[in-house]
Amino acid sequence: MSTEKTRAQHATADADREIPEERLKDRYAELIEQVRAARTAYYLEDAPRISDASYDALYRELETLEAEHPELVANDSPTQEVGGEVSEAFAPVRHLERMYSLEDVFSVEELRAWLARARESIERLRPGARPAWLTELKIDGLAVNLLYREGRLVRAATRGDGTTGEDVTRNVATIASIPQRLTGEDVPAEIEVRGEIFIASADFRELNEALVAAGKAPFANPRNAAAGSLRQKDPEVTARRRLSVFIHGIGHRTELSADSQSQAYELLASWGLPVSPYARVLETEEQILEFIADYGQHRHDLVHEIDGIVVKVDDFRTQALLGHTSRVPRWAVAFKYPPEEVNTRLLDIEVSVGRTGRATPYGLMEPVKVAGSTVSMATLHNQDVVKAKGVLIGDTVVLRKAGDVIPEIVGPVAALRDGTEREFRMPETCPSCGTRLAPAKEGDVDLRCPNHRSCPAQLWQTLAYIGSRSVLDIDALGEETAQALTQPAEPAEPPLVSMAGLFELRPEDLEPVQTWRDTFLTDEAGKRVRGADGRFQRTGEQELVPYFYGRIPVDAPARVKGLRRDQPQKHTETLFQELAKAKTQPLWRVLVALSIRHVGPNAARALATRFGSMDAIRAADREALAETDGVGPVIADAVIDWFAEEWHREIVDRWAAAGVRMEDERDETVPRVLEGVTVVVTGTVEGYTRDSAKEAIIRRGGKSTGSVSKKTDFLVAGENAGSKLEKAEQLGVKILDAEGFAVLLREGPAPFDAA
Ligand code: NAD
Repeated sequence: MSTEKTRAQHATADADREIPEERLKDRYAELIEQVRAARTAYYLEDAPRISDASYDALYRELETLEAEHPELVANDSPTQEVGGEVSEAFAPVRHLERMYSLEDVFSVEELRAWLARARESIERLRPGARPAWLTELKIDGLAVNLLYREGRLVRAATRGDGTTGEDVTRNVATIASIPQRLTGEDVPAEIEVRGEIFIASADFRELNEALVAAGKAPFANPRNAAAGSLRQKDPEVTARRRLSVFIHGIGHRTELSADSQSQAYELLASWGLPVSPYARVLETEEQILEFIADYGQHRHDLVHEIDGIVVKVDDFRTQALLGHTSRVPRWAVAFKYPPEEVNTRLLDIEVSVGRTGRATPYGLMEPVKVAGSTVSMATLHNQDVVKAKGVLIGDTVVLRKAGDVIPEIVGPVAALRDGTEREFRMPETCPSCGTRLAPAKEGDVDLRCPNHRSCPAQLWQTLAYIGSRSVLDIDALGEETAQALTQPAEPAEPPLVSMAGLFELRPEDLEPVQTWRDTFLTDEAGKRVRGADGRFQRTGEQELVPYFYGRIPVDAPARVKGLRRDQPQKHTETLFQELAKAKTQPLWRVLVALSIRHVGPNAARALATRFGSMDAIRAADREALAETDGVGPVIADAVIDWFAEEWHREIVDRWAAAGVRMEDERDETVPRVLEGVTVVVTGTVEGYTRDSAKEAIIRRGGKSTGSVSKKTDFLVAGENAGSKLEKAEQLGVKILDAEGFAVLLREGPAPFDAA
């Protein structure tokens, strides 16, 4: 993180670069205007028009400008006040003690600097004191102030501008986890407790779906959903929303028998108030950073959203000595995680057809950077999901990418619509082959292209699957080649119109479709545009970019940048060498390549071992198939159904005629010493890959499984064996190292029986 420029530095750099002296005042006024407008949409309407990241950048720019040009600072600048506003829909309420916002930091460096400054101030105010840091999750909700008198909840208010909030007492009364009465000992005569009202992530999704179904605009994120649900004129609406609260502070109080905030939390909890279970009192900076890193990784495993971590001086006396600015306490800081939500334009919704024929709508967006990568596509799963999200083509949408998770379109920013947006309509026919789409069975939401035999989209993906390492391992048959092989090479047919012809290909068949690489089309302005065939590929940065496969349209080269022909001759040679090698792959891999439903490597191995040849499998009846260990009735049915199709049988016949192995390779020189023995291999075993270890077990008649259970006879634990080793120890499974494994393979389980 240290070499990375912080977001604040970026903002500063941008501010420096972009604003000439004479424009400073204008820019300053413009920034104030933009921040104010964003705040109104966010706090009053609960419907932000820009992302939090964009808001934070504006706000930072404003702060930086003010720091560098103090003469500009207006008295009513947003940097001088707590952000919220008070709606006229609610009665105004003065808090007994002011409510504050929090100072933000956006990087580890900034946090370290903040802590250093805080420690210095503390040292000055209380020499020798060693501050402890109460470290908590920053819940992404809205602040509420609860006033209890004689233990009774008498008033609840939003934060508002910090001095005056909105009276939401009746709405808060509907939240079950907020006690109307405090019970227990030492309850003060009067106390303000502050907390965060939130909606659980799962409930948020449900709520949005319901809103869209009712023809209403969905909320942009759980924070706005919580705020919008609480700030309802009709408390009955609030009552229907599942809101919760965690307490994270105290305001005015009469007497309180606690010296620190963490002690106060214990008291609050004892009176029945919901205090966050995640708060920790930490001593060192390193512990704080660890806490931050830990929740950074697990932030989506929590029931609610968090947007950062709050670090507070725990001791009340020190807090009081440090005091506040007009906007924030000097004894607390919020570390914000990198943004995972951005706004972008949904340019179009297209439909792709996958290997199994499933038709999936996906959004094409103006590329944006989010959570470390640039995103321009996101799946929308099916037409019902598109509806439920309420997005229209042309909308500004909230796009979310949580860490390594697949990007997701959360919903539209409905307030920005201008009437030009249009609804998505699921096509009735397959965009690849024109066959009518239909659900696989009645009631299915997903639509499929039933033309499994020759739909080019299904075909090329099946071919790429066959080429993958875990199937026939044909390196040269990747997505690109698979697409080229199935793409019409006008005026001729594509080289492959069915997978039956894969092993009959001749080098001359490939000539018309030799692939080109790096062929991006650009428009006049040099911006990349989508290829006419609408395909995308991933670059090293995992960016999806438009891409051309196969032949380039005649008029394209003039507009194509960075055209480079990918040594087609060499690629073709490799492909044919690898196809020849693939013919000698074991029978189980050939079975997997046929893409029979439910038949993965395990079932395929079981079938190959039990029946010994493709012919025997094809001739076997349901009972014989089903009683095979590791097969069962569902897979048996799938196999029977598959062979019932004539064009499927044709694949097998033509592959066999082309010399593909159709017999299980039984090496009689290898004794079947592991019949009936179940072995699990974990970690790295010297001399073996995961696959070859498995293979060695199966060739000796043993069963190789992936997880340890009571049925496991042996666990072979290589280096870095993890949880499986623990489990095996618990279950008393025999554990072997590489040497023991060698003995097992040579002599079977007998030598270990005595042990
Ligand atoms: P903030 O949300 O960054 O931090 C202060 C608040 O954090 C407190 O008021 C409290 O309610 C909350 N909080 C959560 N957990 C806490 C805990 N454990 N301890 C203490 N407090 C906790 O500040 P803010 O002033 O409320 O809002 C500013 C932020 O709101 C911006 O950074 C931006 O993300 C967002 N915002 C967005 C827009 C927009 O247009 N998208 C507009 C305005 C504000």
